[in-house]
Amino acid sequence: MRSLTRPDPTLTLEPRRRADGSLPSWSRKRKSIEKFVAWALANQSDQCAICGYFVGDVADRRAWSIDHFAPKGDTLYPQWTFEPLNLIVTCHSCNSIFKQDFDSVTLVGRDYADSSFLLVHPYLDSIERHIEGTYAGRSRRVGAPRPQSPKGRTTIELFRLDDVNYLSGINRQALRISLDEWKAHLPGATLLLFKNAMAELTGRHQ
Ligand SMILES: [Zn+2]
Repeated sequence: MRSLTRPDPTLTLEPRRRADGSLPSWSRKRKSIEKFVAWALANQSDQCAICGYFVGDVADRRAWSIDHFAPKGDTLYPQWTFEPLNLIVTCHSCNSIFKQDFDSVTLVGRDYADSSFLLVHPYLDSIERHIEGTYAGRSRRVGAPRPQSPKGRTTIELFRLDDVNYLSGINRQALRISLDEWKAHLPGATLLLFKNAMAELTGRHQ
């Protein structure tokens, strides 16, 4: 998990309200939401905001979801359904298997950013103040994360960021990224030698 740049304040998603003043229903097919997702995927380097697995239009990606950090259910926080600070792109597992409708809010503030949360917030918190050693994206490899606050502990437990299978999976992804970066910097002739050597070792041609 890593801290994310906040959405630009000019990026507003709130659609026109109904005649009775209520908000229309959520749809990820809405133009403004599609625009937000394109921005968020670039902002998150095509990686889940929580676990870091690829979710964008890249190899080995997982299905993505838009997570309402404070859940949008009618009896929860419908007022933040279209609040950009409340929206992050995550993988399907982080959103729909681990978090589900977990109520992450401890105090509703005057503005969204004044509110308090039970989980580490990718836009509002400095992650390292709450969790040490968590996967921060790209080719960085990690061991088990260490909680630095109750919020950090709850976040690690809810999203199982210390699970050994997750850690080996995310470290494989990090290793593949660093190998791709290394290959991208090799001169053509050396890259060909490398590919031939790999083909000899693995018995397959890539
Ligand atoms: Zn995830």
